[in-house]
Amino acid sequence: MSEHHVVDVTIIGAGPVGLAAAYYAGHRDASVRILESLGQLGGQVAAVYPEKHVYDVAGHPKIQGQALVDLCVEQGLQFGADVHLDQEVKDLTRVGQNGEEVLVLTTHQGQSFPTRALIVTAGHGAFEPRKLEVEGIDDWEGRGLHYFVKRKESFRDKACVIVGGGDSALDWTLGLQDTARLPITLVHRRERFRALETSVKEARELEGKGDVRICVPAEVRGVRGDGSIEAVTLENTSTGEEYEVECDALITLLGFHSHLGSIVDWGLELHGKKQILVDPKSMETTIPGVYAAGDVAGYEGKITLISVGFGEAAIAANQAIAKIRGEKVQPKYSTD
Ligand SMILES: Cc1cc2nc3c(=O)[nH]c(=O)nc-3n(C[C@H](O)[C@H](O)[C@H](O)COP(=O)(O)OP(=O)(O)OC[C@H]3O[C@@H](n4cnc5c(N)ncnc54)[C@H](O)[C@@H]3O)c2cc1C
Repeated sequence: MSEHHVVDVTIIGAGPVGLAAAYYAGHRDASVRILESLGQLGGQVAAVYPEKHVYDVAGHPKIQGQALVDLCVEQGLQFGADVHLDQEVKDLTRVGQNGEEVLVLTTHQGQSFPTRALIVTAGHGAFEPRKLEVEGIDDWEGRGLHYFVKRKESFRDKACVIVGGGDSALDWTLGLQDTARLPITLVHRRERFRALETSVKEARELEGKGDVRICVPAEVRGVRGDGSIEAVTLENTSTGEEYEVECDALITLLGFHSHLGSIVDWGLELHGKKQILVDPKSMETTIPGVYAAGDVAGYEGKITLISVGFGEAAIAANQAIAKIRGEKVQPKYSTD
């Protein structure tokens, strides 16, 4: 177990709210550490919808997801937070260390991080994409199989098969029209799509022009390639007919599993099944010194929006700092 030095505030989760908490704690001259299970910053926004536009974050009439996250990163890390990616937090204990009582977080990766206060901004938990039930599917990761469209450019002139029936699958079938090689093949296991009717109508129109090929009801039965993906085998599930579609990229947009994992075993009181109960006046959980903000924090009347999480991050950081310093809770203006 490799052990790190103690910091004032540790933040679990580098989504927009975790980054905002890092800003507020750094602005109050606290030493800050961020632990993030994914290999990138930005939480759901960067992982799920980096190229969609967001319209309801105050001060930004319209901003692309990734651009918003880039600004959150610039603002949140300006005081030099100690960032650890690919670290999924598992356990929380309280120990005495050098004459003070600290919280110690340990990760699945075998590292140990002591802290004076903790802010949990874990969203829906460490999330993982739902995968196709095809034997050996994981072997194609990094070799043509994608669970996200992070950068459109990586699909430039590529033959793409998109699997899914929801908004993401339809959005990217339409959104990659100016980038990927046409037609884009869209595969869904049912005849009817769950996505917005206008998107489905647009995809059907593009099918008429030969720019989209819609395969329904169909399922992926196999993947073939030498080093990287060259083709997928589809089965028409109403006729049982199997056929191959050549492609360079297989993009499966089947949603995510998310799990709070062992956080629910720390003895925190929960709000429903997926949120940690907090007192909204302080954002403190039922464990003293442990705060929560953003999607993971629950209380009556909560709405899970980025701008709400930003406010909660400010409250949590100010409260955490007042507590570890034994001071009265007071915000500090940032203007100079
Ligand atoms: C398609 C879509 C569109 C949306 N559109 C909007 C919109 O227009 N406006 C709006 O306000 N909101 C929107 N939202 C919601 C918004 O994205 C969330 O409210 C916001 O991302 C919450 O931020 P967060 O920082 O609390 O959590 P998240 O963004 O979920 O980040 C949490 C981070 O914590 C990490 N984590 C979790 N568990 C652990 C662990 N044990 N150890 C280490 N790291 C961990 C996760 O990997 C993740 O990176 C949308 C959501 C989706 C899915």
